[in-house]
Amino acid sequence: MPIITRSAAAVEAEDWQQILAQSFRRPQALLEYLNLPLSELPQRLQACDEFSMLVPRPYAAQMLPGDADDPLLLQVLPQATENEHRPGYITDPLAEKDTNIQPGIIHKYRGRILLLATAGCAVNCRYCFRRHFAYADNRIGRKQWAEALAYVAADAGISEVILSGGDPLLLQDEALQELIHLIEDIPHVRRLRIHTRLPVVIPQRLTTALQEMLHNSRLQTSIVVHINHPNELSEAHRQPLQALRQSGTTLLNQAVLLRKVNNNLGILSDLSERLFEFGVLPYYLHLLDSVRGAHHFDVSEQEAVFLYRQLLAELPGYLVPRLVREEAGKANKSPINLDR
Ligand code: SF4
Repeated sequence: MPIITRSAAAVEAEDWQQILAQSFRRPQALLEYLNLPLSELPQRLQACDEFSMLVPRPYAAQMLPGDADDPLLLQVLPQATENEHRPGYITDPLAEKDTNIQPGIIHKYRGRILLLATAGCAVNCRYCFRRHFAYADNRIGRKQWAEALAYVAADAGISEVILSGGDPLLLQDEALQELIHLIEDIPHVRRLRIHTRLPVVIPQRLTTALQEMLHNSRLQTSIVVHINHPNELSEAHRQPLQALRQSGTTLLNQAVLLRKVNNNLGILSDLSERLFEFGVLPYYLHLLDSVRGAHHFDVSEQEAVFLYRQLLAELPGYLVPRLVREEAGKANKSPINLDR
């Protein structure tokens, strides 16, 4: 009888999708898993009505059971305070509606466009500036990619395509390869950037096929991961991230400064050092975007500058991310003035 084997790529692909399917989607289940009291459940469920909960199990496994203030838990567990709508915290703080020039495309900055390759994420971060984004109006499938990329082909000034989302690595490798080929067919596009949090919350997503796909592309490739706390990096991330970097993809990190999560010199310093150890360069440290439901994460600019000055004194320059704020209508991210 012939032995039927599956390729390593098929096994890997199945694994990350199966893991994603088993994610926590209800606050009660996550609290029980972490041996935490089932407090404020109605309010947490109310917060889920506005922005659903999604927490993959590998990410939850890195939280400390019994610790209600675990910095990873605080990023993903719906809180009662999200239901208080504070003045100044709005649904579209970056006015992306104005730059969402056609379904699936945001053209904010000169020379590069954002292609919203998927309409979902692998984790729902409670502070996300897109927590109210009209994904339903921007859902473009494989059939519409060519149409969206016609916009890029028509503008010779665009040299970089940024795959964002939702999380573009939710695409299966075969679909992602098809999309990359379509982008490669546009002669003036030289760079491909992928913004993703998926490899952080499910490191199994860093498949060999993904690594080879990026290595074989004619485009200069970079991946911008999103890690806010050193506890988010485990031994499971080390080998795939290092392999990806060694195969020629530039790895950068963007973090958000978040109250009770990482507004601390030791944590920010450890984060930079750990990122570098895993082959990732600290790139941006963002101030929070004023999105409705996330006010409790906000760190004042004054405190951010105070922390940042200490970070500059603590680390070599290449380990210090740029402290920035994104502002609606600006042609670039705004560096924070340290001389205040
Ligand atoms: S992964 Fe990124 S886009 Fe998705 S919820 Fe988190 S911060 Fe927002």
